[in-house]
Amino acid sequence: MADEPLAHVLRAALPWRDGPVLTECGKLPDAGMPVLTVTEFAAKVKREGKQRSALLTCMTCWSTAATRQGVSWGADPVGVMAREVGWARTLMPGVIRDDPTARLFRDELLAIAELISRHREEFDGLVAEIAVTPRLGDRRRQGKRRAG
Ligand SMILES: [Zn+2]
Repeated sequence: MADEPLAHVLRAALPWRDGPVLTECGKLPDAGMPVLTVTEFAAKVKREGKQRSALLTCMTCWSTAATRQGVSWGADPVGVMAREVGWARTLMPGVIRDDPTARLFRDELLAIAELISRHREEFDGLVAEIAVTPRLGDRRRQGKRRAG
């Protein structure tokens, strides 16, 4: 058990990004690195409990992933974006982290805005379509409001 390498937890993937996903602690996974998806991590914590699951998991990955259990783009696009924004920003307004992935994220946001401006009607149509599609989180909140 002591020789077992610590497992890292993969960040929730941005749906438009091809290529490797960083771990919560900012590592690029290599072939020898044990990694867990957010879903696998949540199952591990449920199966082993908090203390035991933390033993063989990178502490930064564990603490970051434990506060975001189950986050995926499909379930929580706002949470996934908040995670990326929080990671890429520095405390200085307008200044991003000196890191290729932070620069990539900024460039992706600029490209998304440019794509939308080139396809405005299609974008507005999709937003209107999505707005009338019931989402699990919305129903849960509405249920709580009615109950409370
Ligand atoms: Zn890690």
